[in-house]
Amino acid sequence: MAEVPDCIFCKIAAGEIPAKIEHADEDIVAFHDINAAAPVHLLVIPRRHIASLAETTDAEAPLLGRIVSVARQLAAKFELDSGYRVVINCREDGGQSVPHIHLHLLGGRRLGWPPG
Ligand code: AMP
Repeated sequence: MAEVPDCIFCKIAAGEIPAKIEHADEDIVAFHDINAAAPVHLLVIPRRHIASLAETTDAEAPLLGRIVSVARQLAAKFELDSGYRVVINCREDGGQSVPHIHLHLLGGRRLGWPPG
């Protein structure tokens, strides 16, 4: 789907609102979370609007795989050698607040488990 009106992450992908971009290619953009929960907190998103993981199908498996690969590359770039976490919050009970699928990459400190 093309850019969805009022979707903040569609606007970031389109360069219409600013973000600190760390990766951009034809399909995927990664940028720093505006409210970082760890020393490194990046969001990896597809340019194409997909509301959540629940809206994907097996047809999106390659795209999802590429999103995870970008997260791995960024973890290496930020030298998160002692470990990191990737999270995809899904819908309301999963704590998703922005309805454009995104993967969180968190690192730079010891992360607790389980999450709240
Ligand atoms: P979630 O709660 O999983 O939907 O994550 C949404 C994330 O987007 C939160 O961690 C927010 O801090 C982050 N966020 C919201 N607006 C922006 C923005 N304009 N630039 C960067 N990160 C944002």
